Amino acid sequence: MEVDVASNLRAVKQTLPEGVELVAISKYHVAEHVMKAYDAGQRVFGESREQELVEKAEKMPKDIRWHFIGHLQRNKVKYIAPFIDMIHSMDSPRLLAEINKQAEKCDRTIRVLLQLHIADEETKFGMTLDECRAMLEEGTWRQYKNIQICGIMMMASNVDDRNQIRSEFQLASDFFDEVKSKYFADDAAFCERSWGMSHDYDIAVECNSTMVRVGTAIFGEREY
Ligand SMILES: *Cc1c(COP(=O)(O)O)cnc(C)c1O
Repeated sequence: MEVDVASNLRAVKQTLPEGVELVAISKYHVAEHVMKAYDAGQRVFGESREQELVEKAEKMPKDIRWHFIGHLQRNKVKYIAPFIDMIHSMDSPRLLAEINKQAEKCDRTIRVLLQLHIADEETKFGMTLDECRAMLEEGTWRQYKNIQICGIMMMASNVDDRNQIRSEFQLASDFFDEVKSKYFADDAAFCERSWGMSHDYDIAVECNSTMVRVGTAIFGEREY
């Protein structure tokens, strides 16, 4: 069955309060299909694989703001540094150093989010809360001129138990408040809470999300 991307997009947007940004996750969907969302007005798209992202960014209109949401290897940063708007999946001090270095080469500032591992699943990436605290406390990030740390990103566990999902989002929200007051109190740019996907973005919004990353509910099922 044909997926009506434009009407799916409208339906998702209608449920989002003002101030919550929709990142349309277009991974594994061909550019022609993704363009239906662009034509319906969407300009922020997220991808999880560097090569697929580069190919789509070349093909698609230049006013798209591309977000990277997948696990990012350090040796791949250089391919996306010239154009990436935000990297949600910053998960180690070494990756942060590399993003800063590549951004400097391009004479840009790249916005990043600190990805937390909160879900009780081994397969998910991200820093534990303590690893993230240690990185911020250590402080080298303060010297980086070509990155801007804009907030926190996480994925909830892939479970049906909505209470569990809610408590994971709440933990992330509390952690955001902790870090905001301790390190970013005077930094207005540190304001983003990236959580919520197709099956749980309604809960995420109740738990202070400012950015939802929605794929399937807009573009239909992915074919891997
Ligand atoms: C794929 C993906 C999404 C979107 O998932 P849907 O269930 O299709 O909405 C969001 N965030 C991350 C990190 C993803 O990898």
